[in-house]
Amino acid sequence: MKNLLNEQELQALRTHIAQSSRILICAHRGPDGDAVGSSLGWAEYLRQQGKQVDIVMPTPFPDFLRWMPGSQDIRFYARHEAEAEQVIAQADLIFCLDFNGLQRLQEMQAPVAAAQAKRIIIDHHLDPDRSIAAQVVSFPTRCSTSEIVCRLIIELGGWDALPQKAAVCLYTGMMTDTGGFTYNSNDPEIYEVISMLLTKGIDKDKIYRNVFNVYSEDRMRLTGYILYRKLRFYYNRHASIFALTREEMRRFHFIRGDAEGLVNMPLQVKGMRLSISLREDTERDVVRVSLRSVDDFPCNRMAEEFFHGGGHLNASGGELPFPLSEAMLTAERAIKAYADLL
Ligand code: 5GP
Ligand code: MN
Repeated sequence: MKNLLNEQELQALRTHIAQSSRILICAHRGPDGDAVGSSLGWAEYLRQQGKQVDIVMPTPFPDFLRWMPGSQDIRFYARHEAEAEQVIAQADLIFCLDFNGLQRLQEMQAPVAAAQAKRIIIDHHLDPDRSIAAQVVSFPTRCSTSEIVCRLIIELGGWDALPQKAAVCLYTGMMTDTGGFTYNSNDPEIYEVISMLLTKGIDKDKIYRNVFNVYSEDRMRLTGYILYRKLRFYYNRHASIFALTREEMRRFHFIRGDAEGLVNMPLQVKGMRLSISLREDTERDVVRVSLRSVDDFPCNRMAEEFFHGGGHLNASGGELPFPLSEAMLTAERAIKAYADLL
C-alpha cells in the first residue's frame, strides 16, 4: 500500500499536532457512520499522543450508531450551544472531518469560522475549500474519511498503540460509506486496510449486525409502506422517486436514522440506475433530498444543479426550501433533464 502523504505533508501534519494541546474534531451536520467513525478513530489516535480531544458535531447522529465506543462523549451544538461554543473557542487546533466546506456545518459554521485555531481538513469529498484550512488532506478516490484516517495513523507511526475500539470505529465508517462494501469499494487497498483492522481483533460480522440489523418494528413497517405505497418508478428513465411527509413519519414513530438505507432499495429493481428520496425535515422547513445511482451516473452533478447539494458520484444529497409537492416536481424535472445519462 502506497503512502497517502509525502514526507513534507506528513511532517506538516505532525508539526500541527505537536504544537497543540486542546484539539477539536468536528464533522458535518447529520453525521453518518463515516463522520462518527473517523472522528472517534482520529480522537483516539490524538489521545494516544497525549492530547486533550473534544468532538463537537452540529446535530446528533442516528440511534443505530449509539453502540459505537466513545460516541457517548460526542457533543452536539444543536443541543448545548453555549457549552459547544466554549469548547470550539478554546481549541488550539480544529480538525474538519468528512466534509469539504464550512457551510456543511450549517448552524455551527459561525463559531468554527470565528475560532482562532488553525483548521485542518481530512476528507474524501471533491473540491475541498482550501481557503478555510491550514492543511488539506483530501483524497476523493478513497472510499471514506475513515479509510484516510486509518492510513494517516499508520503513516504517522501510531498504529501499534491504537486501541481496538478505534479500529472498530474506523471499520464502521468504511463499512457504512460503502453500503457494507457493495459500492465505491473496488480498490484493493481498501481490503489491505481492513486486513490490518482485523489484526486488532475487531468482530466485523457483529459490527455489520450492529449497524444494519437493528430495525424497530416501526422502521420495518415504514420501509414496507414506502415500497408498497409511495415508491414511483419512471421505468423508461431507469429512475425512481419516493417522498416521505412529516405526518407519515409521525405515524410510524420515526426516529433519526429510520430512513437510512431506504433510498438504496429501489436500485435493487433490475435496470434501475437512479433513486431519489425526498423527506420533509423534522426540524427545519426544508425537504431533504438523497440521491443514489449505479455505474457512471453522476448524482453529485444532479445534486448541485437541482438540489443545492453535492456529494459523491453514486451517493449525494441536498435540500430544497419547498413544500414536498414542489420538490417532487423538481425531482421529476431533474430526471427528465438527465434522460441522456439515464
Ligand atoms: P445522504 O443521502 O446520506 O444524506 O448523503 C449522501 C452523501 O451526499 C453524503 O455523504 C454527502 O457527501 C452528500 N450530501 C448530503 N447532503 C448534502 C448537502 O446538503 N450538501 C452537499 N454538498 N453534500 C451533501
Ligand atoms: Mn464519508
